[in-house]
Amino acid sequence: MMRTATLAASLALAACAVDTHPEERVETAPLATCTRAQTPVRLTTTSTARTYRYTETVRPVTFEETRVSSTAYSNFIAFLEEVNETADTDVFDQIALLVRQRDVFIRYLGEEAAALHQAMLDGEVGTLGDITCFQSILFDLQNRDWPLSLGPVEMGAYVLERDTSAGLQLRAYAKTQKQGGVTGISLADLETRVNTDLAAGWRLRAHLHSHPLSPDGQYDIAGTVIPSDADANTYRRQRDERGLQEAWITNGVHSSRFPASQFDQL
Ligand SMILES: [Zn+2]
Repeated sequence: MMRTATLAASLALAACAVDTHPEERVETAPLATCTRAQTPVRLTTTSTARTYRYTETVRPVTFEETRVSSTAYSNFIAFLEEVNETADTDVFDQIALLVRQRDVFIRYLGEEAAALHQAMLDGEVGTLGDITCFQSILFDLQNRDWPLSLGPVEMGAYVLERDTSAGLQLRAYAKTQKQGGVTGISLADLETRVNTDLAAGWRLRAHLHSHPLSPDGQYDIAGTVIPSDADANTYRRQRDERGLQEAWITNGVHSSRFPASQFDQL
């Protein structure tokens, strides 16, 4: 309650500042616009999952912390704003979500189970930020296919890279899922395509998956961009077997990034 009141007060102050000092807005640099460089190509379709290939040559906006504009994304943010009206934690504040989950873990699983939460909060491991343009283009596919307002479910992607005469090229193999089956994501059905590209000279840049908010969770409302033990095992295996460089986790608003050199700390 107090957090909500504080947030409302901050917003009121911010609105007041903008209204009384319109000249300050002129000095603000315009945000780069995040658009899709191409329409993602749908590869497979079942009643419960879809897979896509999305390729782009890195642009100035690619790794900027900004979101692609789409109706599905706007609806997702509106859903989170609605959740926020009654949530006990500001769902647009990743630190608050991590603190909330850390405390749940300590209470029910013991201090040790929350060690990684604390390490991330202390800035010892991982980099926290907002979702990047490239990540948002992939995450958007989930809300286009099966909006998260219908229930939490994870999406994921393998991200490959290669050098071309036009610059660094990224290629993602992404998967979206329908709610009601498994909540976690398996990217096993993308392995063959990834292996083919690796054999052709692409490098495995990143493993991306989402940790959606579970607003109806009895104890844990999730939405934290912290890897589970299973995630960490996947990262280490992919690093050792295929040279995975980075791990990315997003909840659609925030994102965390872990270099391979930190995988053993996860
Ligand atoms: Zn995970």
